[in-house]
Amino acid sequence: MKQTTTESRPVLTGLKRGELESLVAQLGEKPFRAKQLEKWIFDKAVRAIDEMSDLSKAFREKLTAETVLSPHQVIETVSSRDGTTKFLIRLADGQSVECVTIVQDRHLTACLSSQVGCNVGCPFCATGLSGFRRNLSVAEIVDQFLIMQHAIRQGALKAFSDHDHLSNIVFMGMGEPLLNYEPLMGAIEILNRQAGIGLRRITISTSGIIPGIEKLMQEARDYNLAISLHSAKPEVRDTLVPINRKYKVDQLLELAGRYAEHTGRRITFEYTMLAGHNASAEDAKALATALRGIHCHINLIAYNPVDSPYQAPPRAEIEAFQNILVKAGYPVTIRHNHGQDDMAACGQLRLYSDEQLLKMVEA
Ligand code: SF4
Repeated sequence: MKQTTTESRPVLTGLKRGELESLVAQLGEKPFRAKQLEKWIFDKAVRAIDEMSDLSKAFREKLTAETVLSPHQVIETVSSRDGTTKFLIRLADGQSVECVTIVQDRHLTACLSSQVGCNVGCPFCATGLSGFRRNLSVAEIVDQFLIMQHAIRQGALKAFSDHDHLSNIVFMGMGEPLLNYEPLMGAIEILNRQAGIGLRRITISTSGIIPGIEKLMQEARDYNLAISLHSAKPEVRDTLVPINRKYKVDQLLELAGRYAEHTGRRITFEYTMLAGHNASAEDAKALATALRGIHCHINLIAYNPVDSPYQAPPRAEIEAFQNILVKAGYPVTIRHNHGQDDMAACGQLRLYSDEQLLKMVEA
């Protein structure tokens, strides 16, 4: 698929291997140049064609005239105390997306967005509340990764981590990845084959788009799947994750069980804890019952309040919830995410309010 800017030149960061090879041939260069180009774009993550020092000057000039390496610009970055760093990126048409590098003990994880905004409409999520604007292209998804990889290679996270590159990817940023299926798959192909991120290190997080999960099951490759569940009770989930009115939780969990069996991969269930809504002992028991028989792991996430009336429950309540699940035999992790501390669920890695974002974009 051709990735273009508003001026219709191909965007190099969105080209798959075969497309890069065709481009190189069109520009009258030898086939091995495609490999060199690929290394500069996806491995070294350079941000300027002129930095590709083993390409001839004439080839670089042709590339500069005929293509765009990337039309996307970093507007703002902000790091939390643990080094987790948010990047706000302006796209070619003036829209903006966020992506995050999460610092963990053993690796650096890229949390990528798949859409500008989101139309799933979860009421506790600032992305959902701001509505859907558009899908991201392959280049716009891949480039979030490359922008962060470049910053890391330049030493941006040296104070927080010994790692000098991203090794894991989670699609948990803005948007519902399975509602932007083809660009998502195109981006994963590039990130896997050209940027070298193993499929086992890539996780797709969904709010529960049943046709998308079914499609994933038909793919030749097995993908890690995370499901933002947030409640096992249909009436509660109808409110917290409105897509539940269309794709019911019982059907979703039945499919999740089949997905885990089919792929041999453990499903991660993300459960954002919202005081007074889904955090009681009764909610924990309902969850334990609903997940029975599914090869899974549960992440409990203390809510990160942004632009909404929801609150995280006290720590003791979260631990009591965890204990019920552990006693029922589930592996459970508590993530005390305050928007910056660890991998969370979609909509939970925001460091800015929408008002702040708007001001930055307008500035
Ligand atoms: S929580 Fe995720 S699925 Fe729900 S509105 Fe926010 S980005 Fe969309």
